[in-house]
Amino acid sequence: MIGVALPDVDVWSERVTVALGQNPGLFTGPGTNTYLVGTGRRRLLLDTGSGVAAYPDVLADALERAGCGGIEAIVLTHGHPDHLGGVAQVRERWGPLRASKLPNPDGDPDGFVFEPLADGAVVRTEGATLRAVYTPGHARDHLCFVLEEEHALFSGDNVLGVGTTVIPSQGGDLLDYMDSLERLLALAPRRIYPAHGPRIEDGVAKLREYIAHRLARERQIVGALAAGDAPIATIVKRVYTDVPEVLHAAAAHSVAAHLLKLEREGRARRQGAGAPLEATWSAS
Ligand SMILES: [Zn+2]
Repeated sequence: MIGVALPDVDVWSERVTVALGQNPGLFTGPGTNTYLVGTGRRRLLLDTGSGVAAYPDVLADALERAGCGGIEAIVLTHGHPDHLGGVAQVRERWGPLRASKLPNPDGDPDGFVFEPLADGAVVRTEGATLRAVYTPGHARDHLCFVLEEEHALFSGDNVLGVGTTVIPSQGGDLLDYMDSLERLLALAPRRIYPAHGPRIEDGVAKLREYIAHRLARERQIVGALAAGDAPIATIVKRVYTDVPEVLHAAAAHSVAAHLLKLEREGRARRQGAGAPLEATWSAS
């Protein structure tokens, strides 16, 4: 995202070094952070970027800056291509490393070999203990990781250093996402290491801000529904009065995510069984 310039490699704590796994761009967001975690001779690599050609050299630089000799294993927050896409090139350069993630109930990439991780699983390396926290909503296979030694959180795409988490129509679910945010808030993390953007120093404040932002938007949409049954395009016009029309298509996806949440909660309903974007919605 424009305006956020992060160095390719940065040491963020005695046990956390960040390596940018994908360059920032207008359509790719602020780049994907990948993390070397631990204090030993070999570190865990959390996420791998999207597989851009420049990444292995960035990672080699990060290993040097972290003062370690290599990679012990790969751990993934989820299977989106900008997190999993670099696994092949990392294995090509550093050997057949073990990778682990939560299996996606919708399926994982063909031929991708990994070890399954579940909620509560603990991955240890010298100087760092990662505890997996099941956090669906942005993706069905999403795990965050508590870094026990720092009472910190690797938030994947659930909390970002800049911008807003997308709830994709494929695999996304806003009700699950809100539950995941509450679950993370209950952990009261100090620092958050996000998958995109700078580190967040006050994890609890950021989580509260995320929850408040979504609830404020929800109230607006409930208010728009109270003004009469309408398709999403009309609800967008009622809610996003200050947003230029070129952004209304993106806003429509966000409204759809909210309406599907309200529908699951019995607070909104669709007339007919059409796709969310085509249906007429009413309050219930
Ligand atoms: Zn993602």
